[in-house]
Amino acid sequence: MHNAAFNALGIDAAYYAFDVDKKRVEKAIRGAQALGFGGLNITFPLKEAALHHCNPDAMSKRIGAVNTIDRRGEGYNTDGIGAVRALEEAGLTVKGTTVLLLGAGGAAKAIAAQLLVDGARVLIANRTASRSLILARQMTEANIDCGCGDVEAHSLVEIDRLLSEASVLINATTVGMRGILDGQTLVRSHQMHSGLVVFDIIYHPLETPLLREARAAGLQTIDGVKMLVNQGAASFALWTATEPPVHIMEAAVRETLLRANSAANEDQG
Ligand code: NAP
Repeated sequence: MHNAAFNALGIDAAYYAFDVDKKRVEKAIRGAQALGFGGLNITFPLKEAALHHCNPDAMSKRIGAVNTIDRRGEGYNTDGIGAVRALEEAGLTVKGTTVLLLGAGGAAKAIAAQLLVDGARVLIANRTASRSLILARQMTEANIDCGCGDVEAHSLVEIDRLLSEASVLINATTVGMRGILDGQTLVRSHQMHSGLVVFDIIYHPLETPLLREARAAGLQTIDGVKMLVNQGAASFALWTATEPPVHIMEAAVRETLLRANSAANEDQG
Protein backbone atom coordinates (compact mmCIF):
# COMPACT_ATOMS: atom_id res chain seq x y z
CA MET A 1 0.00 0.00 0.00
CA HIS A 2 2.88 2.37 0.67
CA ASN A 3 4.53 1.71 -2.70
CA ALA A 4 1.16 2.29 -4.41
CA ALA A 5 0.90 5.60 -2.52
CA PHE A 6 4.47 6.65 -3.44
CA ASN A 7 3.76 5.86 -7.11
CA ALA A 8 0.45 7.73 -7.10
CA LEU A 9 2.04 10.85 -5.59
CA GLY A 10 5.27 10.67 -7.62
CA ILE A 11 7.37 10.38 -4.42
CA ASP A 12 10.80 8.87 -5.12
CA ALA A 13 10.75 6.29 -2.32
CA ALA A 14 10.24 2.55 -1.77
CA TYR A 15 8.87 0.51 1.14
CA TYR A 16 10.63 -2.74 2.02
CA ALA A 17 10.07 -5.43 4.66
CA PHE A 18 13.01 -6.65 6.73
CA ASP A 19 13.00 -9.68 8.99
CA VAL A 20 14.65 -8.49 12.22
CA ASP A 21 15.67 -10.72 15.11
CA LYS A 22 14.30 -9.55 18.48
CA LYS A 23 17.84 -9.21 19.86
CA ARG A 24 18.78 -6.77 17.09
CA VAL A 25 15.90 -4.28 17.31
CA GLU A 26 18.05 -1.41 18.54
CA LYS A 27 20.74 -2.00 15.90
CA ALA A 28 18.08 -2.22 13.17
CA ILE A 29 16.49 1.09 14.22
CA ARG A 30 19.82 2.92 14.60
CA GLY A 31 21.01 1.42 11.30
CA ALA A 32 17.91 2.62 9.45
CA GLN A 33 18.38 6.11 10.91
CA ALA A 34 22.07 6.12 9.96
CA LEU A 35 21.15 5.09 6.42
CA GLY A 36 18.68 7.99 6.18
CA PHE A 37 15.43 5.99 6.03
CA GLY A 38 12.41 8.29 5.83
CA GLY A 39 10.44 6.23 8.36
CA LEU A 40 9.80 2.77 9.73
CA ASN A 41 6.91 0.53 10.61
CA ILE A 42 7.50 -1.99 13.37
CA THR A 43 5.29 -5.03 13.60
CA PHE A 44 4.56 -8.01 15.85
CA PRO A 45 6.48 -9.07 17.96
CA LEU A 46 8.88 -6.09 18.06
CA LYS A 47 6.54 -3.19 18.88
CA GLU A 48 7.16 -3.23 22.65
CA ALA A 49 10.96 -3.55 22.35
CA ALA A 50 11.11 -0.74 19.78
CA LEU A 51 9.50 1.68 22.26
CA HIS A 52 12.82 1.75 24.16
CA HIS A 53 14.81 2.81 21.11
CA CYS A 54 12.90 5.90 20.04
CA ASN A 55 11.32 8.99 21.55
CA PRO A 56 7.73 7.72 22.06
CA ASP A 57 4.73 10.10 22.03
CA ALA A 58 2.09 10.09 24.79
CA MET A 59 -0.24 7.58 23.05
CA SER A 60 2.50 5.02 22.35
CA LYS A 61 3.66 5.33 25.98
CA ARG A 62 0.06 4.71 27.10
CA ILE A 63 -0.05 1.61 24.86
CA GLY A 64 3.50 0.52 25.72
CA ALA A 65 4.36 -0.14 22.06
CA VAL A 66 5.25 1.74 18.85
CA ASN A 67 4.41 0.70 15.29
CA THR A 68 5.96 3.72 13.56
CA ILE A 69 9.16 5.73 13.91
CA ASP A 70 9.87 8.83 11.83
CA ARG A 71 13.22 10.06 10.47
CA ARG A 72 13.86 12.10 13.64
CA GLY A 73 13.42 9.03 15.88
CA GLU A 74 9.97 10.04 17.20
CA GLY A 75 7.83 6.96 17.95
CA TYR A 76 4.07 6.61 17.47
CA ASN A 77 1.38 3.95 17.59
CA THR A 78 -1.17 4.35 14.80
CA ASP A 79 -3.03 1.02 15.34
CA GLY A 80 -5.71 2.58 17.55
CA ILE A 81 -6.10 5.55 15.20
CA GLY A 82 -6.57 3.07 12.34
CA ALA A 83 -9.38 1.32 14.20
CA VAL A 84 -11.13 4.55 15.21
CA ARG A 85 -10.91 5.96 11.66
CA ALA A 86 -12.41 2.71 10.37
CA LEU A 87 -15.37 3.22 12.72
CA GLU A 88 -15.72 6.88 11.72
CA GLU A 89 -15.59 6.01 8.00
CA ALA A 90 -18.52 3.67 8.67
CA GLY A 91 -20.47 6.66 10.01
CA LEU A 92 -20.04 6.04 13.75
CA THR A 93 -19.31 8.60 16.45
CA VAL A 94 -16.96 7.09 19.01
CA LYS A 95 -17.63 9.52 21.85
CA GLY A 96 -20.27 8.12 24.20
CA THR A 97 -20.54 4.78 22.35
CA THR A 98 -20.36 1.50 24.28
CA VAL A 99 -17.90 -0.86 22.56
CA LEU A 100 -17.48 -4.55 23.38
CA LEU A 101 -13.83 -5.34 22.65
CA LEU A 102 -12.90 -9.03 22.45
CA GLY A 103 -9.24 -9.68 23.31
CA ALA A 104 -6.55 -8.25 25.57
CA GLY A 105 -3.43 -8.68 23.39
CA GLY A 106 -1.34 -6.04 21.64
CA ALA A 107 -3.98 -4.94 19.12
CA ALA A 108 -6.75 -4.79 21.76
CA LYS A 109 -4.56 -2.59 23.95
CA ALA A 110 -3.93 -0.06 21.16
CA ILE A 111 -7.61 0.03 20.23
CA ALA A 112 -8.78 0.35 23.85
CA ALA A 113 -6.36 3.23 24.53
CA GLN A 114 -7.52 5.22 21.46
CA LEU A 115 -11.23 4.50 22.03
CA LEU A 116 -10.96 5.69 25.65
CA VAL A 117 -9.08 8.88 24.74
CA ASP A 118 -11.82 9.52 22.16
CA GLY A 119 -14.51 9.13 24.84
CA ALA A 120 -15.97 5.65 24.24
CA ARG A 121 -17.08 3.30 27.05
CA VAL A 122 -15.05 0.11 26.55
CA LEU A 123 -16.06 -3.35 27.82
CA ILE A 124 -13.04 -5.65 27.46
CA ALA A 125 -13.77 -9.40 27.36
CA ASN A 126 -10.94 -11.89 27.07
CA ARG A 127 -10.55 -15.69 27.26
CA THR A 128 -7.98 -15.23 30.06
CA ALA A 129 -9.98 -12.93 32.34
CA SER A 130 -6.91 -11.91 34.35
CA ARG A 131 -5.44 -10.33 31.18
CA SER A 132 -8.56 -8.20 30.60
CA LEU A 133 -8.33 -7.10 34.24
CA ILE A 134 -4.67 -6.09 33.86
CA LEU A 135 -5.43 -4.21 30.64
CA ALA A 136 -8.41 -2.39 32.19
CA ARG A 137 -6.28 -1.45 35.22
CA GLN A 138 -3.48 -0.09 33.03
CA MET A 139 -6.00 1.93 31.05
CA THR A 140 -7.69 3.26 34.21
CA GLU A 141 -4.35 4.40 35.64
CA ALA A 142 -3.43 6.05 32.35
CA ASN A 143 -6.87 7.68 32.18
CA ILE A 144 -6.69 9.64 35.41
CA ASP A 145 -7.42 13.31 34.68
CA CYS A 146 -7.78 12.81 30.94
CA GLY A 147 -11.57 13.01 30.69
CA CYS A 148 -11.56 9.60 28.94
CA GLY A 149 -14.38 7.07 28.76
CA ASP A 150 -14.87 4.26 31.32
CA VAL A 151 -13.31 0.83 30.93
CA GLU A 152 -14.52 -2.50 32.39
CA ALA A 153 -12.89 -5.97 32.46
CA HIS A 154 -14.88 -9.15 31.79
CA SER A 155 -14.51 -12.75 30.68
CA LEU A 156 -15.92 -14.35 27.53
CA VAL A 157 -18.67 -16.18 29.46
CA GLU A 158 -20.40 -12.81 29.96
CA ILE A 159 -20.65 -12.16 26.22
CA ASP A 160 -24.45 -12.27 25.90
CA ARG A 161 -25.07 -9.66 28.61
CA LEU A 162 -22.21 -7.47 27.35
CA LEU A 163 -23.55 -7.60 23.78
CA SER A 164 -26.92 -6.30 24.97
CA GLU A 165 -25.14 -3.19 26.36
CA ALA A 166 -22.91 -2.55 23.33
CA SER A 167 -23.63 -0.86 20.01
CA VAL A 168 -20.27 -1.87 18.51
CA LEU A 169 -18.55 -5.28 18.70
CA ILE A 170 -14.83 -5.46 17.86
CA ASN A 171 -12.96 -8.75 17.52
CA ALA A 172 -9.29 -8.14 18.41
CA THR A 173 -8.49 -11.81 19.08
CA THR A 174 -6.86 -14.22 16.64
CA VAL A 175 -10.05 -16.32 16.51
CA GLY A 176 -11.05 -16.71 12.84
CA MET A 177 -7.58 -15.91 11.48
CA ARG A 178 -6.41 -17.96 8.50
CA GLY A 179 -3.93 -20.63 9.50
CA ILE A 180 -4.41 -20.10 13.26
CA LEU A 181 -8.05 -20.48 14.28
CA ASP A 182 -9.61 -21.00 10.83
CA GLY A 183 -13.37 -21.02 10.58
CA GLN A 184 -13.98 -20.18 14.26
CA THR A 185 -15.96 -17.32 15.79
CA LEU A 186 -16.61 -16.18 19.36
CA VAL A 187 -20.08 -14.77 18.52
CA ARG A 188 -22.89 -16.25 16.37
CA SER A 189 -25.65 -14.36 14.55
CA HIS A 190 -28.40 -15.37 17.00
CA GLN A 191 -26.48 -13.56 19.79
CA MET A 192 -26.35 -10.25 17.84
CA HIS A 193 -29.05 -7.61 18.27
CA SER A 194 -30.34 -5.35 15.51
CA GLY A 195 -28.34 -2.13 15.18
CA LEU A 196 -25.09 -3.74 16.36
CA VAL A 197 -22.08 -2.82 14.20
CA VAL A 198 -19.59 -5.70 13.90
CA PHE A 199 -15.90 -4.97 13.25
CA ASP A 200 -13.34 -7.77 12.86
CA ILE A 201 -9.75 -6.50 12.78
CA ILE A 202 -8.52 -9.76 11.21
CA TYR A 203 -7.86 -9.19 7.48
CA HIS A 204 -6.85 -12.69 6.38
CA PRO A 205 -9.34 -14.02 5.40
CA LEU A 206 -11.11 -10.88 4.18
CA GLU A 207 -14.49 -12.27 5.23
CA THR A 208 -14.02 -13.85 8.64
CA PRO A 209 -16.55 -16.26 10.21
CA LEU A 210 -17.62 -13.44 12.59
CA LEU A 211 -18.36 -11.09 9.68
CA ARG A 212 -20.30 -13.88 7.92
CA GLU A 213 -22.42 -14.32 11.05
CA ALA A 214 -23.04 -10.56 11.23
CA ARG A 215 -24.02 -10.38 7.55
CA ALA A 216 -26.39 -13.31 8.06
CA ALA A 217 -28.04 -11.24 10.81
CA GLY A 218 -28.32 -8.29 8.38
CA LEU A 219 -25.90 -6.11 10.37
CA GLN A 220 -23.41 -3.43 9.31
CA THR A 221 -19.86 -4.84 9.19
CA ILE A 222 -16.33 -3.42 9.00
CA ASP A 223 -13.41 -5.62 7.93
CA GLY A 224 -9.78 -5.63 9.08
CA VAL A 225 -8.53 -3.99 5.88
CA LYS A 226 -10.11 -0.71 6.99
CA MET A 227 -7.94 -0.65 10.14
CA LEU A 228 -4.84 -1.87 8.31
CA VAL A 229 -5.13 0.85 5.66
CA ASN A 230 -5.93 3.64 8.11
CA GLN A 231 -3.04 2.81 10.44
CA GLY A 232 -0.79 2.70 7.35
CA ALA A 233 -2.16 6.00 6.07
CA ALA A 234 -1.47 7.62 9.46
CA SER A 235 2.15 6.34 9.31
CA PHE A 236 2.52 7.60 5.72
CA ALA A 237 1.36 11.08 6.78
CA LEU A 238 3.94 11.12 9.60
CA TRP A 239 6.83 10.14 7.30
CA THR A 240 5.99 12.33 4.32
CA ALA A 241 3.94 15.23 5.80
CA THR A 242 1.69 14.55 2.78
CA GLU A 243 -2.02 13.69 2.62
CA PRO A 244 -2.09 9.91 1.99
CA PRO A 245 -4.11 8.62 -1.01
CA VAL A 246 -6.17 6.31 1.23
CA HIS A 247 -8.38 4.88 -1.56
CA ILE A 248 -5.35 3.89 -3.66
CA MET A 249 -3.74 2.29 -0.59
CA GLU A 250 -6.94 0.37 0.17
CA ALA A 251 -7.26 -0.87 -3.42
CA ALA A 252 -3.64 -2.13 -3.32
CA VAL A 253 -4.24 -4.00 -0.04
CA ARG A 254 -7.51 -5.57 -1.25
CA GLU A 255 -5.95 -6.70 -4.52
CA THR A 256 -3.03 -8.36 -2.68
CA LEU A 257 -5.29 -10.00 -0.09
CA LEU A 258 -7.73 -11.27 -2.74
CA ARG A 259 -4.77 -12.95 -4.47
CA ALA A 260 -3.58 -14.41 -1.13
CA ASN A 261 -7.12 -15.61 -0.33
CA SER A 262 -7.49 -17.34 -3.71
CA ALA A 263 -4.07 -18.98 -3.35
CA ALA A 264 -4.96 -20.20 0.17
CA ASN A 265 -8.33 -21.53 -1.04
CA GLU A 266 -6.65 -23.38 -3.92
CA ASP A 267 -4.14 -24.90 -1.46
CA GLN A 268 -7.03 -26.09 0.73
CA GLY A 269 -8.98 -27.39 -2.27
P1 NAP B 1 -2.01 -11.25 20.55
O1 NAP B 1 -1.30 -10.14 21.28
O2 NAP B 1 -1.33 -12.56 20.41
O3 NAP B 1 -3.45 -11.47 21.28
C1 NAP B 1 -4.25 -12.54 20.91
C2 NAP B 1 -5.61 -12.43 21.60
O4 NAP B 1 -6.45 -13.47 21.08
C3 NAP B 1 -5.57 -12.62 23.11
O5 NAP B 1 -6.52 -11.77 23.70
C4 NAP B 1 -5.97 -14.10 23.27
O6 NAP B 1 -6.59 -14.41 24.50
C5 NAP B 1 -7.00 -14.23 22.16
N1 NAP B 1 -7.20 -15.62 21.76
C6 NAP B 1 -6.31 -16.44 21.15
N2 NAP B 1 -6.84 -17.67 20.95
C7 NAP B 1 -8.10 -17.63 21.48
C8 NAP B 1 -9.16 -18.58 21.57
N3 NAP B 1 -9.03 -19.83 21.09
N4 NAP B 1 -10.32 -18.21 22.14
C9 NAP B 1 -10.47 -16.94 22.62
N5 NAP B 1 -9.50 -15.98 22.56
C10 NAP B 1 -8.33 -16.32 21.99
O7 NAP B 1 -2.38 -10.78 19.05
P2 NAP B 1 -2.57 -9.29 18.50
O8 NAP B 1 -1.25 -8.77 18.05
O9 NAP B 1 -3.35 -8.50 19.50
O10 NAP B 1 -3.42 -9.56 17.16
C11 NAP B 1 -4.76 -10.04 17.23
C12 NAP B 1 -5.33 -10.12 15.81
O11 NAP B 1 -5.45 -8.80 15.28
C13 NAP B 1 -4.45 -10.90 14.82
O12 NAP B 1 -5.30 -11.68 14.02
C14 NAP B 1 -3.81 -9.80 13.98
O13 NAP B 1 -3.54 -10.21 12.65
C15 NAP B 1 -4.91 -8.75 13.98
N6 NAP B 1 -4.40 -7.37 13.78
C16 NAP B 1 -4.96 -6.63 12.79
C17 NAP B 1 -4.53 -5.34 12.59
C18 NAP B 1 -5.13 -4.51 11.48
O14 NAP B 1 -4.55 -3.47 11.14
N7 NAP B 1 -6.26 -4.89 10.92
C19 NAP B 1 -3.53 -4.77 13.42
C20 NAP B 1 -3.00 -5.57 14.44
C21 NAP B 1 -3.45 -6.87 14.61
P3 NAP B 1 -5.72 -14.90 25.78
O15 NAP B 1 -5.23 -13.64 26.44
O16 NAP B 1 -6.69 -15.66 26.58
O17 NAP B 1 -4.59 -15.74 25.23
